[in-house]
Amino acid sequence: MSNMEQDRWSRVKGRLRSSVGEDVYSSWFARMDLESVQDESVHLSVPTRFLKSWIQTHYSDKVLSCWQAELPEVNRIDVTVRSPVRCSTPAKEMPAAADGRRDEPRPATERSNGAAPATSNHDALGGSPLDPRLTFASFVVGRSNTLAHAAAKQVAEGRRGDPVMFNPLYIHSGVGLGKTHLLQAVTWAGNAGTERKVLYLTAEKFMYGFVAALKTQTSLAFKEALRGIDVLVIDDLQFLQGKTTQAEFCHTLNALIDAGRQVVVAADRPPADLESLDERVRSRLAGGLVVEMAPLGEDLRLGILRSRVVAARAHHASFDVPQPVLEYLARSITHNGRDLEGAINRLLAHSKLNNQPVTLEMAEHEVRDLIRPSEPKRIKIEDIQRIVARQYNVSRSDLLSSRRTANVVRPRQVAMYLAKTLTLRSLPEIGRRFGGRDHTTVLHAVRKIEGLVSKDTTLSDEVESLKRQLQE
Ligand code: ADP
Ligand code: MG
Repeated sequence: MSNMEQDRWSRVKGRLRSSVGEDVYSSWFARMDLESVQDESVHLSVPTRFLKSWIQTHYSDKVLSCWQAELPEVNRIDVTVRSPVRCSTPAKEMPAAADGRRDEPRPATERSNGAAPATSNHDALGGSPLDPRLTFASFVVGRSNTLAHAAAKQVAEGRRGDPVMFNPLYIHSGVGLGKTHLLQAVTWAGNAGTERKVLYLTAEKFMYGFVAALKTQTSLAFKEALRGIDVLVIDDLQFLQGKTTQAEFCHTLNALIDAGRQVVVAADRPPADLESLDERVRSRLAGGLVVEMAPLGEDLRLGILRSRVVAARAHHASFDVPQPVLEYLARSITHNGRDLEGAINRLLAHSKLNNQPVTLEMAEHEVRDLIRPSEPKRIKIEDIQRIVARQYNVSRSDLLSSRRTANVVRPRQVAMYLAKTLTLRSLPEIGRRFGGRDHTTVLHAVRKIEGLVSKDTTLSDEVESLKRQLQE
């Protein structure tokens, strides 16, 4: 892609980000790549079928208009699914990657794991593709992910028949903070040595696998196969949708856990916030070890950048990134691991194409669109409840209780109002988090407080002060 196209694409992404908001952007568009622009049509790619259909049904107009703002002649957007890395395909037959990833040979130890003969179980289940680079060896440990890493290691090193320490292991974090990396590391390591079978599935794959199996009448075999594995690893659980699939997921989860098999799950939010999932599933998920990975600290970002440079140097010996540039990148690219990786790839591409060493000036130019103004903090319902309870001198359990005395009713309404205005949670979800109330109760509270703040200056000052405390 030419620099001009690259710039234009960055601007289109910037427009999309500001038009849909950061949360929506990072959920649906963070992994969208530009493949080509030809005459009037733009070709984009995403890694999964699910993302493709979601973007097409919900955001195609938005995407088109953001393009038209940059390039008025565009009148058509095509979205395709990038071809995945298949762990059962020998490296040399892998399709060329849009992002250059698959060109890199796998480390020798992993090649044999990747090519492990597929058993009938894996055939029936069709695990999701694994990226050979996502191993424990390449995972950098820092303050924000120590616990998640230790738990994942523990799972990976378990042997068949060992007592399971925590089940399921549930890892959650924002996008690009290393969940998939850890889960795939568990899968590679788990399948490396012993007789154990570790199966990695995205939630989408679980859904499609199940639906496909139902269609071909092999659902019994599919279920049997699923229950015959030692460790089931499910990524991006927030995408699990549909009643039948959920019921099946619930059965599978129960069957595996009851049989002492390990389940590992990753999602972009804690179990209680998986709104589309049934209460029983959520509580089962919360019943093991739930670990959050915090945003990457500066040290960790520096560590990841260093390891990326080392990896790149294995194939491009002349490539080097001076320490001040690494420090600059670690300080300025704060958002996620994907952007750090992107930054190194760009520096590599730029220095190869122009045959120039990496300098600070060049880095500043190449990565400017990856640097964002600091992000608003993600506010949690628990924080709202805690801070509101403190302000009004009631307990958090008062807020969740069914007590209807005035000294709890008003704070409760304020807390619900803040939950609706400061988080992306739905009314039913908020109701549930406030002691299992109906969504109409939440709606009533929101309207009530909305009405009052315009008239009652004391209340409106209180609300403003609460907002400030929450945003600090
Ligand atoms: P998530 O699944 O949480 O969205 P990924 O696992 O896909 O995030 O990570 C995004 C990118 O950042 C990947 O290239 C990954 O290798 C890298 N990354 C994130 N955390 C780490 C880490 N601790 N060490 C090394 N690389 C990391
Ligand atoms: Mg992921």
